Amino acid sequence: MVFGFIIGRRHCGYSKADQEGDEELYFQCTKTYIDPETYEDPNRAVHQFAKELDASCIKIERVIGAGEFGEVCSGRMKLPGKRDTSVAIKTLKVGYSEKQRRDFLCEASIMGQFDHPNVVHLEGVVTRGKPVMIVIEYMENGSLDAFLRKHDGQFTVIQLVGMLRGIAAGMRYLSDMGYVHRDLAARNILVNSNLVCKVSDFGLSRVIDDDPEAVYTTTGGKIPVRWTAMEAIQYRKFTSASDVWSYGIVMWEVMSYGERPYWDMSNQDVIKAIEEGYRLPAPMDCPPGLHQLMLDCWQKDRADRPKFDQIVGILDKMIRNPNTLKTPVGTCTRPISPLLDQSTPDFTTFRSVGEWLEAIKMERYRDNFTAEGYSSLESVARMSIEDVMSLGITLVGHQKKIMSNIQTMRAQMLNLHGTGIQV
Ligand code: AMP
Repeated sequence: MVFGFIIGRRHCGYSKADQEGDEELYFQCTKTYIDPETYEDPNRAVHQFAKELDASCIKIERVIGAGEFGEVCSGRMKLPGKRDTSVAIKTLKVGYSEKQRRDFLCEASIMGQFDHPNVVHLEGVVTRGKPVMIVIEYMENGSLDAFLRKHDGQFTVIQLVGMLRGIAAGMRYLSDMGYVHRDLAARNILVNSNLVCKVSDFGLSRVIDDDPEAVYTTTGGKIPVRWTAMEAIQYRKFTSASDVWSYGIVMWEVMSYGERPYWDMSNQDVIKAIEEGYRLPAPMDCPPGLHQLMLDCWQKDRADRPKFDQIVGILDKMIRNPNTLKTPVGTCTRPISPLLDQSTPDFTTFRSVGEWLEAIKMERYRDNFTAEGYSSLESVARMSIEDVMSLGITLVGHQKKIMSNIQTMRAQMLNLHGTGIQV
């Protein structure tokens, strides 16, 4: 039950929060995002959404990165009567054209509309001095992909899920505001010193133009193929549901510590594989429940994908019940296997249903499976929750555990062999 109504540029309504099965009605007010391109005078848009800072308040210290329009630096900001703080400063290089200036400041016009702990915060802009600057809160650990590669294997699953929860909360806020990101990827998430992840890189098409991952597709646009839902690649249908697909890829990047999605496959091969129903397998040591959530984000039909609100709810439940994040022995602990390698001789460590049940500590049900005729892993992989329930397993926890392992097995079979595999 959602009553929505619009008050000016605020969208307010009742939402239902599900906390451990209890439904709670809460009143929510979210502003609606305004596309700065709809302003005739782009300067007005900037000053509507961003505070003009006095250049004397900003001290540039060192260069930390390269942006499309100029250097990204770290530095300090000291506003009158306020404590001095660390900031990141994006500068516009000298000799810019009017269009470049407009495009550069467009990011500030967008960022300035957002106010959420998981969305990077704009401090203000300097447009009345040179260089033109965008001043942003400083994120000590830089971009998430590089950060994870640097700390490979060093976090607990709960820490990784905490990062994912933050990103999902930021995306829930942006989608509630009606903003579609289009380039959600670990490289566009920033991490601060407390491991808080914040969504960044806003803009219109230029942000994607700036992304080295983006390539031209047959539909004419530049698209970061590995992160993008098929409907967005094929007919540029970018929505919050296509952002959810990208979020699933970010989950995979996080759980694999910054591995490149689809490894060294070409973009063309990635598109072909996705169309044929292949999906990325669970990263090493990834709890099956998290991989299942990724697979849900990669549903072909965008209406079947979860909403960011639901994703936050699922991750919250996992964090509250860390037992659900334990990796069952023998399910996800194998090294990552290539997506399409049809020649891998031993796709699974299990040769029989009995061996599989033993590995997941459910061997007591071996006879139940045999009695119902489930003698091969292939037949088990096709089971539904109803099939599992009809085996005479009365404990709901055991039914769930078995079903979650079957889902992982099914995903792995699909990844390695397509649907017609003989196991
Ligand atoms: P961008 O042009 O936004 O992609 O920024 C280029 C690089 O600068 C990023 O990959 C980050 O490493 C760094 N960077 C950008 N914004 C910040 C920030 N707010 N805090 C720290 N580093 C940043």
